[in-house]
Amino acid sequence: MQKDYIIIGQGLAGSLLAYELLQQGKSIHIFDNHHEGAASSIAAGIINPITGRRFAKSWRIDQFLPFAKEYYQKIEQRFNINIFHDRAVLRFLHGNKDINDWYGRSSWEGFGEYMQEYENMEELADHFHLPFGIGVIKPSAQIDIPLLIKTFKEYFQEKNVISDQKIDYQLLKQNDIKSAFNGIDADKIIFCEGYQAQFNPAFDAIPFEPAKGEVLFVKIPNLNFKDLLKNKIMIAPLGNDLYWTGSNYEWNATHDRPTESFKTDFIKKLQKTLKLPFEVIYHKAAIRPSVKDRRPVLGSHPRNPKIAIFNGLGTKGASLGPYWAKHLANHLLNNTPLEPEVNLSRFYV
Ligand SMILES: Cc1cc2nc3c(=O)[nH]c(=O)nc-3n(C[C@H](O)[C@H](O)[C@H](O)COP(=O)(O)OP(=O)(O)OC[C@H]3O[C@@H](n4cnc5c(N)ncnc54)[C@H](O)[C@@H]3O)c2cc1C
Repeated sequence: MQKDYIIIGQGLAGSLLAYELLQQGKSIHIFDNHHEGAASSIAAGIINPITGRRFAKSWRIDQFLPFAKEYYQKIEQRFNINIFHDRAVLRFLHGNKDINDWYGRSSWEGFGEYMQEYENMEELADHFHLPFGIGVIKPSAQIDIPLLIKTFKEYFQEKNVISDQKIDYQLLKQNDIKSAFNGIDADKIIFCEGYQAQFNPAFDAIPFEPAKGEVLFVKIPNLNFKDLLKNKIMIAPLGNDLYWTGSNYEWNATHDRPTESFKTDFIKKLQKTLKLPFEVIYHKAAIRPSVKDRRPVLGSHPRNPKIAIFNGLGTKGASLGPYWAKHLANHLLNNTPLEPEVNLSRFYV
């Protein structure tokens, strides 16, 4: 069977790209092995425009946040689901330097529109150990990535364009395309494998820097908190008293499974933030597909035009995914140029 595109991986990157290509009338087939350590399965889906200790503005957030909002809202309408949530990040400020930096930064051009004062500290005092102050980062958002992936999976299954199968690089190396893909061939094969792309010999020039993260999903009865709380940890609401809490960045992880040491340390951190009792419901781990220069990586292979990649969404898949999926689809279908900053060819000079 001949298709226009084979897509390997149905995480956020593969799902969005597959949807774009189908929307534009192309024939596709997806292969995915639903790996437990896939980032999309446990991501909080937060889009936070101001991050880090120095209150840096996220890369091109003025462009990506409104784009993502419109994109996800169209998907909500199409599939009758609720995945885009407007949120505020309540950012705990620690000490006078932090407070001064916050106010200093909020007076910079382009920052003030996201950084506001929080005036109802006493409202939170029953539930949280309060710090010196709180800054509000708004607009921010939370995308229900696991629901998005599940919805897309059902949609691809209905269309009979997805197989639950791990692709064997050895067969690809031998150019045995039909065996590798169960008798299916395509004009182009697009790899959207998340962090597992680091094991793909076809892309060994890409300097991947995968970052493992662990998450505790906890029940906190009676918190009724609808915002995102950023202390040294992040707490994000999932509904029905369940909260996503995390995470950490482990750059040289030897495996993608949850660890007892993370759980023990993180429970202490939660106790330092929360005054309310909580119960750990489950504990998960996954690996973020980051690249050294912290930019997405997309496009056809400079030495093998039959294969292409969509990867490098790193820690920010929720905001980067929609924009760059469309950018890549337009490039593949209409030959529009890829932006050099994200083009795979930057690693092949
Ligand atoms: C703890 C944690 C918290 C995060 N929080 C946020 C957040 O708040 N906001 C945000 O924007 N981002 C967040 N992220 C990052 C976000 O999850 C990623 O940017 C995004 O999900 C990456 O999607 P992906 O499709 O590239 O990779 P993945 O989700 O890893 O998907 C890759 C898919 O490819 C499949 N696959 C791989 N190799 C093969 C093969 N050979 N054959 C068949 N199938 C294959 C895998 O099974 C998987 O389903 C977080 C990540 C983690 C780990």
